[in-house]
Amino acid sequence: MNSDARMWHAHAKINLALHVTGKRPDGYHLIESLAVFTRFGDRVEIERADSDGFSVSGKYASAVPLDGGNLAVKARDALRMEAGLQHAPPVVIRLEKNLPVASGVGGGSSDAAAVLRGLVRSWGLDIDDTELARIGLSLGADIPMCLAAKPLIARGVGDELSVVPGFPALGLVLVNPGVAVSTADVFNALEKRDNDGLPPLPRNFDFHSIRNWLEITRNDLEPAARAIEPAIGKALSVLNKAGAGFARMSGSGATCFGLFETGNVAKRAAAEIRSREPDWFVAATRSLTSEAD
Ligand code: ATP
Repeated sequence: MNSDARMWHAHAKINLALHVTGKRPDGYHLIESLAVFTRFGDRVEIERADSDGFSVSGKYASAVPLDGGNLAVKARDALRMEAGLQHAPPVVIRLEKNLPVASGVGGGSSDAAAVLRGLVRSWGLDIDDTELARIGLSLGADIPMCLAAKPLIARGVGDELSVVPGFPALGLVLVNPGVAVSTADVFNALEKRDNDGLPPLPRNFDFHSIRNWLEITRNDLEPAARAIEPAIGKALSVLNKAGAGFARMSGSGATCFGLFETGNVAKRAAAEIRSREPDWFVAATRSLTSEAD
């Protein structure tokens, strides 16, 4: 890395629960979701240069657009336009794509959020979080929550955010059986859209109360996604067999998460799943807390 290059983390977004509560006339779905963000994710390096550049490395590099269609590039262009910064200095963006693509963990949105944060710093912009979230929302409904990257409840189309103070770091194993699922296909396949919202959160956030709360919530996208891609059911049963206290699909799938009492137990479970399913994406990680970390 050269002297002014800086690395930004693009965390995976995990929907611990996701209730679909309605559909707006413009076609967007209304949701209520408890989401957390993991240490494991993509990485974005931003460096001043003589001309703009963009490159992608990492396990999933070949699955994303390498041009202006990439959300990382769209984020750079949107910030230049929206902030009236057509003459902002050129930058090279290097994306390390570690997260499976179209997999329900918001990788593209998180990459865009990391680019927005990184460029605000690199260009020395005076833009507050509300304005940055507005620019992010113009690119994708999940970008404001990826900018926050804290345990939060998302409502509306996913852009009305309430950070959950005191939520602990969770030991998680992420598993993807190697299949991409189209978010639009899953939403189109929903049989019911006017489901109830999330129940109140538990008073204490220990492992057992969080697990009990998860048991009374749902991911309303899971049945439709499993019908489209039966391998999701296999991923869930592999997580359960490996000892997860709880397992569920994130977002529109196909990535599933298992909840484990400690990071070490999660690591052991991930190793076991990897040996059983060597071609799958498997990552043991911890979620970020609401306190800066
Ligand atoms: P969500 O949970 O928000 O629905 P996802 O994890 O299901 O997101 P992404 O991995 O963000 O989905 O990819 C969605 C689409 O965006 C893919 O079809 C992909 O080609 C495109 N895309 C553009 N840029 C990126 C990027 N940087 N990373 C991932 N996908 C990208």
